[in-house]
Amino acid sequence: MVIAHILSVDVERWSDATLLAGRVERRVGQPLVQAQTERVLALLAHAGVHATFFVLGEVAQDNPQLVRTIAEAGHEVGCHGWTHDLLADLGAARLRSDLERARRTLQDLSGQAVTAFRAPTWSLDRRVPWAPEVISEVGFELDMSIFDGRHGIYGEPVASGRPFRLITAAADLLEVPTSVRTWSGLRAGGGFYWRTLPRGVVRDAYLSKRHPAVGYIHPWEVGPAAYTLPAGLEPGARLTMTAGIDRFAQKLDWLLRAVPWRPAREVVSSEEAAQWPRLRLTARGLGPAEEAD
Ligand SMILES: [Zn+2]
Repeated sequence: MVIAHILSVDVERWSDATLLAGRVERRVGQPLVQAQTERVLALLAHAGVHATFFVLGEVAQDNPQLVRTIAEAGHEVGCHGWTHDLLADLGAARLRSDLERARRTLQDLSGQAVTAFRAPTWSLDRRVPWAPEVISEVGFELDMSIFDGRHGIYGEPVASGRPFRLITAAADLLEVPTSVRTWSGLRAGGGFYWRTLPRGVVRDAYLSKRHPAVGYIHPWEVGPAAYTLPAGLEPGARLTMTAGIDRFAQKLDWLLRAVPWRPAREVVSSEEAAQWPRLRLTARGLGPAEEAD
């Protein structure tokens, strides 16, 4: 049986990238986000693929028609927070008010029930064990905020690498980790990984999975890349922001056809999710819900 995977688009300004925090004014990417997202929409339409678009609240406020266009094209609208601040920097009270405001805004603009959430820069990890409860209480049912693995600035290992039920004091969240391991153990979850790995390696990482997995892209990765990174940016950050950008639209066009992609709402069924393991997030990481009780 061929497993369908979730394609996600984080609709934010290039200047929202955490690697640029404090280096550029975060709204400076605003004039490009419309054209960049329209380019993603055109690529998806051309390939006949629908996706889940996690839209930042500030971007929705500045580009209301863009949210309507995404919804009218048949895509799922999800929430990427109000600003691109990390969950640990927001704290529980601000996270709650930000998510309520963002979810309401996105629902009003899209006409959809917005039930999927992705935290900025996969910032749902052991540093914020209080966050799943807030996310659930605001009304989200599906979360794709956990990057399975360890990266310099994000990541929370998921032992099985598979989807699970994230237990909270409120309702459970259905969690599909955002990371895919290749046969050699490399990560191939999207973005920089898709831009730099050979396309066949990325395709095979998804086609070999027996469970739903997630891929992600950002509109600024598709272009037009008409922006200037700050002088003096560290080489690693510069590489992350630019590697493979020139040819990415072409590569993405190929990947869109090579793997069966769907929006999250078409991949995750509550019947299947009833069988998923139950995990809890604590200050020690993810563990079986029973052990953490
Ligand atoms: Zn983001």
